[in-house]
Amino acid sequence: MDRRSGTRLPWHLLPDNAAVGDGGRLTIAGCDTVELAREFGTPVFAYDEGHLRARCREAVTAFGPAATYATKAFLCRAMARLAAEEGMGLDVASGGELHVCLSAGVPPERLVFHGNNKSLSELRRAREVGVGRTVVDSFDELARLEALHGEDGRTPAVLLRITPGVKAETHEYIATGHDDSKFGFTVSSGAAAEAVEKAKASPAVELVGIHAHIGSQVFRAESFSAAVEVLGRFANPLGLPELVVGGGLGVPYVEGEEAPTITQWARVLRSAAAEAGITAEIGVEPGRSITAAAAVTLYTVGTIKDLPGIRTYLSVDGGMSDNPRPVLYGSGYEAFLPRSVTADRNRTVRIVGKHCESGDLLVRDARVPADVMVGDVLATPVTGAYGHSMGSNYNKILRPPVVFCRDGDARLVVRRETDDDLLLTDLG
Ligand SMILES: *Cc1c(COP(=O)(O)O)cnc(C)c1O
Repeated sequence: MDRRSGTRLPWHLLPDNAAVGDGGRLTIAGCDTVELAREFGTPVFAYDEGHLRARCREAVTAFGPAATYATKAFLCRAMARLAAEEGMGLDVASGGELHVCLSAGVPPERLVFHGNNKSLSELRRAREVGVGRTVVDSFDELARLEALHGEDGRTPAVLLRITPGVKAETHEYIATGHDDSKFGFTVSSGAAAEAVEKAKASPAVELVGIHAHIGSQVFRAESFSAAVEVLGRFANPLGLPELVVGGGLGVPYVEGEEAPTITQWARVLRSAAAEAGITAEIGVEPGRSITAAAAVTLYTVGTIKDLPGIRTYLSVDGGMSDNPRPVLYGSGYEAFLPRSVTADRNRTVRIVGKHCESGDLLVRDARVPADVMVGDVLATPVTGAYGHSMGSNYNKILRPPVVFCRDGDARLVVRRETDDDLLLTDLG
């Protein structure tokens, strides 16, 4: 197979088990993607289950049971079960994420409860079911845990989330100096040290570690090293057994981007931890790096509007409701035609959705094959993280289904919404 990029789709953006099938069509784990579009309709999220499992396994091999999947990247029962089966813990950041994981049968002790504003009822449920760790984010939360301790006498194991005044950014590490964040206890103001004293003295919690999430979509593993050093300076004197450095490992979305593997990330974190004299067990919470590249979204091209001298708008049957990242962050994506996955892409178009917003954009300047036409299935790769999970019902568009592909079988794990689903909560 020719894997030159040029104007072709860079092959490494596709899931592990992508291949060129009959007539040049893309297959994922033996499933023909044009067939998937026909069988399940479009838009549809098509995941390579083997890719998901391989990334979970890689994380567990590199970090042991302290590898925790950040469910906000992509969550449904099948995903929760898969991550747990592969030996990962699971992060949840709301009562809703907690509910989905419990309903998938994930053992509660494998769950880590996050959030900067956990409600009393969320905390109560987490205690009742016995989540493994609670990451305490504020003095107010500590007070709520003390009130609940008065009710039920339980003493959950907690980590304190700190804001170390350091951030691993997309391309480098930045000592931000400022601490302008809604998350965690600020180190520079002394709040973090005060929280440690309070937690140690409180009968309501068992303090087992420190937590910080120091970046997101970070491309250089070395960017984490300096952050780990700063964390060590705060955490080492406390002598606690656990130190969680969050998620944030980046993935390539477009031509020319490269990111370390989970294994390389682990190597860098471990050597940085050793250098910083950290003896605590290092935990991580990858989200994007587990699921992003595992999926492609399949759409159908509905209209092609040519504006001579300006541009061509190519409209698909989804948009910001299944992938809000381009609108929210200006994120870039590639596009291709699954009927001809290795074709040259010599035409530049703007791929837009079907929402009533001029800003409803999927790919600003997409390269597509010149013969693209109405009715074609069109795909965007690397849509397995923060697409389905950040999706919405804007314009009462039905949320797409999710299909897991494995050994030539396509298993529907989330069905498409129906018109009646839109009325489920409407009592009028
Ligand atoms: C979002 C988040 C993660 C996952 O981040 P990725 O960039 O998807 O790896 C992990 N931990 C915390 C606390 C987060 O908020």
